[in-house]
Amino acid sequence: MPQKLELLYEGKGKKMFKTDDENLLITEFKDDLTAFNAEKKGSEAGKGELNCKISTEIFYLLEKEGIKTHLVETISDKEQLVKKCQIIPIEVVVRNVATGSLTKRLGIKEGTILPFSVVEFCYKNDSLGDPIINDEHCLILNLVKSEKELEFIKQIARQINSILVKFFSSKNLRLIDFKLEFGIDSDGNMILADEISPDSCRFWDSKTNEKLDKDRFRQDLGNVKMAYEEVLKRILS
Ligand code: ADP
Ligand code: UDP
Repeated sequence: MPQKLELLYEGKGKKMFKTDDENLLITEFKDDLTAFNAEKKGSEAGKGELNCKISTEIFYLLEKEGIKTHLVETISDKEQLVKKCQIIPIEVVVRNVATGSLTKRLGIKEGTILPFSVVEFCYKNDSLGDPIINDEHCLILNLVKSEKELEFIKQIARQINSILVKFFSSKNLRLIDFKLEFGIDSDGNMILADEISPDSCRFWDSKTNEKLDKDRFRQDLGNVKMAYEEVLKRILS
C-alpha cells in the first residue's frame, strides 16, 4: 500500500495527499460544505465518509461499464487511492431537468424535463467564479488540445449520464444534473477524475421530488446528512 505523504492541495471538499508513488494520490473527503463559489460555508459531521462511499460505488459501477476512471482503491471510510492526473480545468455539467443556474440564466421553469441531455462547460477558475464557456473558449484558453478532445469529453459525459440515469432510476432517484471532471493520466489517457456524489449531483426522489443532495444545504432545507445517507442506502439496496 503506498505511503501517505504531505498534503498536495486542500480544496473546498477534499484534501489531496502525495504518496511515495509519484503516479498516485490519496483523496481525503472533508465534512465541509460550500456553495455559491464558497460564499456560503458549513460543515456536516460524517458527510465526507458518505461522499467517499457514494463516489466509490458510482466509480466502480462506471468502471464495470467500461469508463476509465482515476479510482484505484478505497482505502478507508473517507480516503481513496487515485491515479494522479493533469486535471482539465473544465467542469463538465450534464443536465436532464432544468434547475439551478440553468433556470436563472435562461428562464426555463424549474423542473422542466429537457428535450435532450444538455452538456455545458464551465471554466474551473474560482477567482472568475467558474464562468460558463463554449467550445471555442475552451480552445482559445488552451484548456484542451483539440476540438476532437472536446467531442470525446462530451461523448463520455453523455455515456456516463445514460449509465447513471438508468442506475439511479432503479433506486427511485431522478438524476437531475451533475458535474464531472476529467484528467490526463501518466500514460496520456483521458480518465474520469474527482468525485460523483450529492455534492456534485442533484438527486430528486422519483415519487415526491424531494431533494436529496447539496441543494438541502444551498437552500437551507435541513436534514443534509439524512439526505446523503438516504442516497447511499438506496445505492447499496
Ligand atoms: P476544489 O478545488 O474545487 O475546491 P476539491 O475540494 O474537490 O475541489 O479538491 C479536489 C481537487 O483535486 C480538485 O481541484 C480536483 O480537480 C483535483 N483532483 C481530483 N482528482 C484528481 C486526480 N486524480 N489527480 C489530480 N487532481 C485531482
Ligand atoms: N456543480 C458542481 N460544482 C460546481 C458547480 C456545479 O458540482 O462548481 C454541480 C451541481 O451540484 C449541479 C450541477 O453541477 O448538480 C449544475 O449546477 P448549476 O450550474 O445549476 O449550479 P448552481 O449555480 O445552482 O450551484
